[in-house]
Amino acid sequence: MNISELFHSIQGEGHLTGKPMFFIRTQGCSVKCPIREVCDQPESLGFKGGTRYTPAELAALALAAVGPRGWVSITGGEPLEQSDFDELVIACRQADLFINVQTSGLKRVNAPWDWCTVSPKAPVAQLQLLFAQELKVVFTGQSLAVLTDYYQQFSASNYYLQPCWRDGGCNTQETLDKVYELNRLGMQWEFSAQWHKYLGVR
Ligand code: SF4
Repeated sequence: MNISELFHSIQGEGHLTGKPMFFIRTQGCSVKCPIREVCDQPESLGFKGGTRYTPAELAALALAAVGPRGWVSITGGEPLEQSDFDELVIACRQADLFINVQTSGLKRVNAPWDWCTVSPKAPVAQLQLLFAQELKVVFTGQSLAVLTDYYQQFSASNYYLQPCWRDGGCNTQETLDKVYELNRLGMQWEFSAQWHKYLGVR
């Protein structure tokens, strides 16, 4: 499969923040994404480029970095656009790793993940995947109706609103205000920072 980058760091976002992980960032994303111009990983968006690895090679590199029962995060790009995505998940499982999948939710994940993070870039009605451990919405001013639909129609244990970084800053206060508004309406969203950016790690 085509890989944009591999690195060992801590998870910086959402419920698994702080967990050491080996990150496998796949190459390519064709999602019609409203924040494409400020995507954190612009170098991973094109389908050309990257480095070829087999799923077995990737699982072996992850195991060497984090050890048995450590975590691997399969992210992108959009990892579900890789034809051998399922083989990678299975190879990681056979290597005794825990698997975090990060996806936009536009395709179903059939492979056996341990923790799925859906960061939707389309209204809930367009998602193929409607359940995960966490839903993480990058807040760019979505309406109350759109956020309510996510909360009511997507089944998750954790709902996060995360500020959007543009031009070196992010809309932290606006995001917090929206979290509080949603909470007052009975929807228990939480705030997700991107701690790796504040800590200066990858
Ligand atoms: S879906 Fe994710 S990887 Fe693709 S452009 Fe949007 S933020 Fe970037």
